[in-house]
Amino acid sequence: MRNLHKIYETQDQPLLALRDITLDVRSGEFVTFVGPSGCGKSTLLNIIGGLLDRTSGDIWFKGQEQREPRREIGMMFQTAVLFDWRTVVDNVLLPVEILGMDREAYRSRALQLLDLTGLKGFEAAYPRQLSGGMQQRVSLSRVLVYDPEVLLLDEPFGALDEFTREAMNLELLHIWDTTKKTVVFVTHNINEAVFLSDRVVVMTPRPGQIAKVLDVKLPRPRTREAMKLPLFAEKVFEVRELLGVAH
Ligand code: ADP
Ligand code: MG
Repeated sequence: MRNLHKIYETQDQPLLALRDITLDVRSGEFVTFVGPSGCGKSTLLNIIGGLLDRTSGDIWFKGQEQREPRREIGMMFQTAVLFDWRTVVDNVLLPVEILGMDREAYRSRALQLLDLTGLKGFEAAYPRQLSGGMQQRVSLSRVLVYDPEVLLLDEPFGALDEFTREAMNLELLHIWDTTKKTVVFVTHNINEAVFLSDRVVVMTPRPGQIAKVLDVKLPRPRTREAMKLPLFAEKVFEVRELLGVAH
């Protein structure tokens, strides 16, 4: 990303949502954007995913200009957006259908992912029969099923309680570790940002700018133990200070 700006044209006056975002995301990296509500995190992720156009600036994906959704980039939103009338496994297979791939060939992979995300036994259930955390697991399985290289995750666990969030974080790290994907994650939860990431990008309130990029050199693979380390506390405090919540 080079000097990305985004202005929303609204009825009254133009709204500057993002100002001068420049960042390189490396292949295989886990990068998290953290910032207050309304600072432009979703805007940025939608631009990266090619769902939204920037006002100015450039963005490339592996040397190609990035303007449209592409198969290599999968996106997961804050709410699970599952289809009520489709079973769990059929919800997971949705992108396979949309991309015109062979449904039957991907069925076993879908079942494997449901197993991996702790949903074994719920393959034939309907979304209304699942808790919020389980629905997010379905949504995570769905973005993983066609194996995109890059995952864009927009506050995927924002609606979950602390316990479920922590379990989902560990699962996500396990998947990231075993599949070597690139993850661009968005959250307003500081602990989550530090726990998951190689780098934390701290954003300012609107218009969203990059306040600072922090390296988080906690050991990998990360376990809950990482949260006990002084370095974890230091990084969390540093992010809190940058966001102005330390006082
Ligand atoms: P975040 O995800 O960090 O909460 P958003 O990217 O959703 O922030 O929004 C950033 C700012 O842009 C907010 O002030 C929001 O009201 C505004 N905004 C978002 N989408 C639109 C839109 N489609 N039209 C006008 N303003 C928008
Ligand atoms: Mg958002």
